[in-house]
Amino acid sequence: MGWIAGVQFFLLLRNEPERFRKSLLLGMQFKDVIGQRPTKELFIQLALEQRVPHAILLLGPPGNGKLAMALAFAQYLNCSSKTVSDSCGVCSSCLKYKKLIHPDLHFTIPVIITSANSKPTSSNYISRWREFFITNPYPLYERWNQAIAEDNKQGMIYVYEASEIIQKLSKKSYEADYKVSVIWLPESMNATCANKILKILEEPPANTLFLLVSEEEQRLLSTIRSRCQTIRLPKIAEQDLTDALANHPDLGENNPAVIARMAKGNYILAEELLREDEVRKYNHNQYTSMMRSGYGRNLQELLAWSDELSSIGRTRQISFLRYCSEFTRENFMSNFKQPKLVTLDENEGNFAKKFSPFIHEKNVMHLFAEFEKSLKDIASNGNVKAVFTDMALKISKLIRL
Ligand SMILES: [Zn+2]
Repeated sequence: MGWIAGVQFFLLLRNEPERFRKSLLLGMQFKDVIGQRPTKELFIQLALEQRVPHAILLLGPPGNGKLAMALAFAQYLNCSSKTVSDSCGVCSSCLKYKKLIHPDLHFTIPVIITSANSKPTSSNYISRWREFFITNPYPLYERWNQAIAEDNKQGMIYVYEASEIIQKLSKKSYEADYKVSVIWLPESMNATCANKILKILEEPPANTLFLLVSEEEQRLLSTIRSRCQTIRLPKIAEQDLTDALANHPDLGENNPAVIARMAKGNYILAEELLREDEVRKYNHNQYTSMMRSGYGRNLQELLAWSDELSSIGRTRQISFLRYCSEFTRENFMSNFKQPKLVTLDENEGNFAKKFSPFIHEKNVMHLFAEFEKSLKDIASNGNVKAVFTDMALKISKLIRL
């Protein structure tokens, strides 16, 4: 698996508890969208010259800020004190936009059919969507899917949505200049639904704006595409992404320019790269605590350690146990003085210099077996606290062999 695929796979598995996530809470103004100056200027010009089309298809790759841009534009259109560069952020309309509770702002998003609801629409998911989008203004389909799906079901925009869209937009606007209907990922709309909205997309009621925010142009029906004015949003320019990452709460000792280059204009990937580093550090610290307390036979410390591990959630526990196998292997290999076979960062390398003699032929396979056993027990919903306590006790014996 290449590293990009690796990161994406890793990202799918993540569902860590909130205390591990430091999100960059963005508002919904143009200034909150990273870079993308030409498109911001284009939108502002359309608004000021009152040439707003009735349906816009905003196209672009994942992680470039399409949805944040669409929302910033909608907020700008409806702001009562807009300037030539942005919405005000504080008028009554802006405040409602910020919380996504404006009565003339409607969302259509992929949803899931469940045993309790066989005809789901976006309205059923709206409060979860608000919560999700406010903390993930650069959202990812897979992450939204993970937030709402019970199993591996894929979110879709079903036919039941069509009548909801038509009904919501046929009402007179409550208070805004524009009624806005945002369709996030119209490519996930089934064909029956798409066909049912063709008419309203072509001739919407007065002062209505459709904003279709899409990542996969080739999956859209040509009849949908032809009814919209297409605006392409490119990936984020490297310098703009570097500047945004320089203020990121998870930056730590990372160089923002290096992360920006690796992320190739994708903010979601950049955040994942920052967090992956954070996860690795956490795993390393827990590994060293386990080995130190185990070697010193400090039972109280080991129990406190297994308390901590029990509290981090299953995905993080699995990530920790994988790290245990990987780092133990690296220590074992260090004994053979073949630096090419060892891939440790500086902090890990310093620890390994002193620790690697404790990993040898007599215990290495037993250690792997313990990590594997714990992985299986955790995956099958075993008693987590008992699993980690038991593992730590066995390991403290093994490293004294
Ligand atoms: Zn305003």
